Parts: sequence; structure tokens; C-alpha cells
Amino acid sequence: MGVSAAIKNTVKRWAGQRYLAADTIVLTFDDGPHPSVTPAVLERLQTYGARAVFFVVGRVFADAPGVLQQIAAAGHVLGNHSWQHDLIRNGRLVPYLRDLRRCQREIERVTRQRPRLFRPPLGRISLASFVAPRLAGLRPIYWSTELQDWQLTTDDEARRQATSWAEAIAPRDIVLLHDDNPCVLTILDVLLPRLVERGFDLERGPELLAGVADSEQHRPSATGQVVRAPSAAMPGQD
Ligand SMILES: [Zn+2]
Repeated sequence: MGVSAAIKNTVKRWAGQRYLAADTIVLTFDDGPHPSVTPAVLERLQTYGARAVFFVVGRVFADAPGVLQQIAAAGHVLGNHSWQHDLIRNGRLVPYLRDLRRCQREIERVTRQRPRLFRPPLGRISLASFVAPRLAGLRPIYWSTELQDWQLTTDDEARRQATSWAEAIAPRDIVLLHDDNPCVLTILDVLLPRLVERGFDLERGPELLAGVADSEQHRPSATGQVVRAPSAAMPGQD
């Protein structure tokens, strides 16, 4: 890994992990919702008492608004993953901002839930990916562990990979998964029971991330400076 990739990975981890308590793990699902895979993901999460962040794509949920409502109704956190996805990955600031605002408006209209979190498409770090979400009142969140689930094509492969991932996942990990590939169901069948067995809290993480975003936007201190929610920060984690 080159120096620049290493720095970017550190930034990506730091952007979210600093807000998590030591025993939490956050599962995140990108690029959905999918009309049949996402409801099956929701069932599995419910079975294990897990809450997740779903970073949804506007042009995808435009075709399945009912699934978007289902995610919100099940108590998960919805995140903005842009309207067009690939088309804005190298975008300039104004079109980038317009695109993510479009996604934001539609999520609010369909679910009455206002996303606080934004995941840049493909995890690209750029000036636009840094500035645009803040202008739209969103906190950019990346991930610390990528399971490469998007390239899995068979259940056997998914089971084998998930078995080793289940041991490799560490405290405060923000796990990147995708709910547009049916292999994610096999992964969850292996991962969820093992993570519960290892004693991780799979429930509180999404709210810690989203709650911090809330407090930064809405609770300025007396001096006008933003204050971070104390309950969400671990001492010495900055
Ligand atoms: Zn994506």
C-alpha cells in the first residue's frame, strides 16, 4: 500500500471510529435498497438484535420506496449515499452538492427521517466529498473494514470468507457490506451469531454515529463553537 492510500485509510477510519464505544461494531450496507435482498437483511438483523446504517442510493430507492420505509420503520439509520452514485465520484462541488441534496430530499419525503450521515460514492475522498456533505448538514462516514463482499458470487465462497472475517473484525470496526448482492445473506448468517458470541454490541453504533452528527449541527456552545456529545466520545480517542 502506498503512503497516500495509507493516509486515506487512516482518515476513513478516524472519521467514524472516534465516536464509537469500545465494544461496538457498526454494520453498514451500501448501494441498496434491493427489493428482495434488503428485506431479508432486515430479518437477520432483527433476529440478532442488530441495528445498521443503510447508505442508500437515490436512483435505486426511487424504484423501491416501500423498502426504504421498511428500513426506517425497523429502527435502522438511513444514510445518504448520493442520488447518482458513480456519476458524481469525480464531481465538482456544485453538481455534487445538488446530487446529494436531491437524495436527501427524497429520503425525507418518503420516510420523514432526515439522514445525518453521508457516505461518498466509492469512498472517494475529494474536496467535493469533504465540503458538500457539510453544506448539506451531513457528516461523511467511511469504513474501517471492507469485506469485499461485492465481488462474491457463490454461497460457498461467501461462507468461507465470512468465517475468517468473523474472527478478524475488531472493536469499533465500521464494516462495509452491500445489500444489493444476495451473497450478503450468507455472510450475515455466519457473521451475526459469531459477533454476538464474541460479545460485541451490534445495536448502539449507528446511533452513536448519527447522534454525534446531530449534536454538532444543533448544539453550538455559548462561544458559538460546536461541542461534541460527551456520551458518544470515548476518553482519549482523538
Ligand atoms: Zn456505493
